[in-house]
Amino acid sequence: MPAAPRHAREDERLASLRSYQVLDTGADAALDALATAAARVLGAPAALVSLVDEHRQWFKSAPGAEAVLGPGVRQTAREDSFCAHVVAAEEAIAVPDATADARFADLPMVTGPQHVRAYAGAPIVGRDGLPLGALCVMDREPRELDASAVRVLADLAGAVAELLELRRAEAAAGLGAHQVLAESHRLRAAIDAGQMAVHYQPVVDLPSGRWVGVEALVRWEHPERGLLPPAAFLPVAEASGLVVPMGRQVLTLACTQAALWRERGGAAGAAADLHVAVNVSGRQLSEPDVADVVAEALLVSGLPPEALVLELTETSLAGSGAEVDTALQRIRSLGVTLALDDFGTGYASYSYLQRFQPDVVKIDRCFVAALGRSERDDLLARSLVRLGMQLGCGIVAEGVETREQAQTLTALGVRHAQGYLFSAPRSAHDLEGRLTTAG
Ligand code: C2E
Ligand code: MG
Ligand code: MG
Repeated sequence: MPAAPRHAREDERLASLRSYQVLDTGADAALDALATAAARVLGAPAALVSLVDEHRQWFKSAPGAEAVLGPGVRQTAREDSFCAHVVAAEEAIAVPDATADARFADLPMVTGPQHVRAYAGAPIVGRDGLPLGALCVMDREPRELDASAVRVLADLAGAVAELLELRRAEAAAGLGAHQVLAESHRLRAAIDAGQMAVHYQPVVDLPSGRWVGVEALVRWEHPERGLLPPAAFLPVAEASGLVVPMGRQVLTLACTQAALWRERGGAAGAAADLHVAVNVSGRQLSEPDVADVVAEALLVSGLPPEALVLELTETSLAGSGAEVDTALQRIRSLGVTLALDDFGTGYASYSYLQRFQPDVVKIDRCFVAALGRSERDDLLARSLVRLGMQLGCGIVAEGVETREQAQTLTALGVRHAQGYLFSAPRSAHDLEGRLTTAG
């Protein structure tokens, strides 16, 4: 038996597959429906969502497979699998007659009682751009599959990948599928009804105490539950993709508000050069028109690009590919500043710093909170600040709650900070006075 082919980046691929936490999990009706559709459209008796693990292929979904592979078969050895070839090649494979194909003629599935003759499989590509497995159909009769049928299979494999991604996001948010659906309907209605509000937290110049900017933070003005923080609805917004229209609203609102403050404050001299920082999620970044959305928000608000900061996190950049790099370049070329939020909390700061080259890093509040707790904690905060500075980034410290923290940060050379010591996030109305009068 020849060994199963390996993917060129097999270790990373396996890590990516594991990150979905889908192996050996139960049935999923939506995935079954997609696999059944594949079998129907291609006129095959069986379809499989096969995830190619280190030594096996495991079937997450297998409608009609009993009739071909035998009862209760959930996996086979990797070297016995067609799908391992799809994964290694990273492209769809159509095999009209396995007995006539040297790669597959000796597979037990072909020589054994299952008598598989025809196979077609398309890769299921995960969020890291690596194939997790294949969506395949098989038949006991030889058959030709034309290019358009294989394209349909590839499209359905894309839908399988999106569904797995949705499940991963739901699991990360601790939500069940039905909860996400119900909550996302409510959130959609709230976005349409204009219930998403933006609060602003001042960014302070430590030496002078001047407010140099604000960070826009979304809130849901829930008619029954009151003002909800992002933690109450962002997981659903992320899992459902609603974070995209929501983020667009926040961006436009924030740019418009900042432009207004700059205009009104200009006369009084308070906020003429105020900047506004807006948080952007990974889902928004991977939208093909993200740079246009940013350009449009600047255009309709009249805010100069140098007054806008976009805050990204390592999580939002994780697994993103060349398209996101290109979009970020376009955004940067508009004159917009890019900041790395929650700096120090990610898992691969160095590689992200190198790739993304932020203009600003925001030291996460957990490091600020730990200041003065132990020598080790201080060393950590100091190293993060120094690393940011050596890379030529502006530094903003988050979550400053005490005067001692502000003093320590100033001594470390940190110029800008935000936190409850200066002001909690407040509505535009509440901040109005301070931002539009002199001083
Ligand atoms: P973040 O961007 O790191 O925002 C800072 C969070 O720290 C805010 O929480 C803020 O209220 C809180 N904070 C500020 N000062 C202090 C302090 O002194 N002490 C403590 N303990 N906390 C402080 P919030 O508003 O609940 O937002 C949480 C996260 O939600 C944000 O973290 C950001 O990642 C996300 N988020 C907020 N608005 C948006 C948005 O419009 N779009 C997206 N995609 N994400 C958003
Ligand atoms: Mg932020
Ligand atoms: Mg942060």
